[in-house]
Amino acid sequence: MSKEQRFMYCNSCRKEVLAQKSETQHIIHFILTIVFALLWLPIAFFYVIFWVFIALSNSSSSFKCTTCDSSNISTNLPQNP
Ligand SMILES: [Zn+2]
Repeated sequence: MSKEQRFMYCNSCRKEVLAQKSETQHIIHFILTIVFALLWLPIAFFYVIFWVFIALSNSSSSFKCTTCDSSNISTNLPQNP
């Protein structure tokens, strides 16, 4: 599973840190769905359900600080540091 990375401000560390977020590999899941469909269609059906579940759990997850693992993180630097 790949990670989306970006520099953000961590409210726990009180500094700019590298933050990570899980990303869904839609192309890999699509290819696997085709492979499963060629092997046995019911397997592909269950795999699509799994894919949707992974995509939903990743989209609801937020960026986390790589230093302290806190999700108390913001895109903007604080006004009064
Ligand atoms: Zn932190």
